[in-house]
Amino acid sequence: MTRIVIIGGSFGGLTSAFELKRLLGNKADITLICNQDKFVFIPSLPWLSMGWRRPEDITLPLEKILRPKDIRFIHEEAKGVDAGSSKVITASQQIPYDYLVVATGPSLVFSAVPGLGPINGYTECIFELDLALRARDAWLRFLKEPGPVVVGAVQGVSCFGPAYEYVFEIDTELRRHGIRHKVQITFVTSEPYIGHFGIGGLRTSRRMMEDEFADREIKVMANQAVEEFAPDEVRLKDGTRLPFKLAMFAPPMSGVKAVSDISNPKGFIPVDQHYRHKEYKNIFSVGVAIAMAPPEPTPIPTGVPKTGYMTERMAKDAARVIASEINGRPIPETEPVGAICIMDMGDTAALMEAFPVIPPRKKAEIKAGKRYKWAKQLFEKYYLWKISRGMTNLP
Ligand SMILES: Cc1cc2nc3c(=O)[nH]c(=O)nc-3n(C[C@H](O)[C@H](O)[C@H](O)COP(=O)(O)OP(=O)(O)OC[C@H]3O[C@@H](n4cnc5c(N)ncnc54)[C@H](O)[C@@H]3O)c2cc1C
Repeated sequence: MTRIVIIGGSFGGLTSAFELKRLLGNKADITLICNQDKFVFIPSLPWLSMGWRRPEDITLPLEKILRPKDIRFIHEEAKGVDAGSSKVITASQQIPYDYLVVATGPSLVFSAVPGLGPINGYTECIFELDLALRARDAWLRFLKEPGPVVVGAVQGVSCFGPAYEYVFEIDTELRRHGIRHKVQITFVTSEPYIGHFGIGGLRTSRRMMEDEFADREIKVMANQAVEEFAPDEVRLKDGTRLPFKLAMFAPPMSGVKAVSDISNPKGFIPVDQHYRHKEYKNIFSVGVAIAMAPPEPTPIPTGVPKTGYMTERMAKDAARVIASEINGRPIPETEPVGAICIMDMGDTAALMEAFPVIPPRKKAEIKAGKRYKWAKQLFEKYYLWKISRGMTNLP
């Protein structure tokens, strides 16, 4: 039986595991290793930080959803990958594989800017469950004693969407509390213009975002790099100082340490169009863990986002390639990855479609409206239902 090991228990790892099981059945012995014992529906973390969701609303126990599909779950941190002898190393064991799928996502690089992040700095972050819970507590404290808010993305960021969602949600929630007029909100971003999103913009995204920010009286400072964060002030490289009572900034990302022996200098895995490692042919990688070049250079460095939809697509393509190889069939063609994403805007939302993500595109769309907010709320429930049953064959 072919031994397939997957590292990571999120969008990439779970989709790979379920798809490989579906395609290979008893021909494969599948093991998933994850340092967390639960799946977290990360797209809902901004809602959790607003108090709109509880952790139990958006998490699922991994063991419980993997066991019925006969996928072994090891709740341990991978410490390293020995690609030469095809083994994953944890603190307690060495796990041999015939194929390895790396879906370890990112490591958040708070050290990129002095004072960034909630652990050793002064800004909130909504990118991980524990951090989003801290951000929720900071938000509840802020509501009792409001002041200026600064939200944004520092230089080197690739995942801009959550910063947009957060600033719109803050604006919406302050209006609901009847205190929006007491709060100055500023959005600071390394993107050359708002609506760039790290993907060179999407049709009318620039104009749409400019209008949306103007409508909501949120001040925008684009093309900015941050020098440092002080306890109550953002200091930009151009000398501007922005005082804050609450600040949330998206951090840059690198790959995780466990895969540093098989990654590029930034920690991301170099893969070909089939998500196969460029050097180690029995290693595949999907999702945020892979190296992906941005569509264009920007004056302040930015990266390209890798969304949940993109991650699922990569995992499905990689699984098809691995299954074809094991079954002795021709390797299937893979299309350049595209994205569908709904960005929350507090009281409304925007649907974005980019096929492929990197221009030139066959399809590019951005539309805003209340119905996309409802669609995003429904999608959360649908996705949790789908993944809890291992039904990754569904759209
Ligand atoms: C706040 C926020 C909001 C977002 N909203 C959206 C959205 O609305 N729509 C959308 O499409 N995308 C959204 N995204 C992007 C989406 O969350 C990512 O694309 C997706 O999570 C990537 O999945 P992944 O499996 O590659 O990585 P991750 O989800 O980061 O998962 C990595 C997994 O690997 C595990 N792991 C890491 N290191 C190790 C190790 N050494 N050993 C064992 N296990 C390890 C982790 O515990 C985790 O289970 C959002 C991202 C953020 C941060």
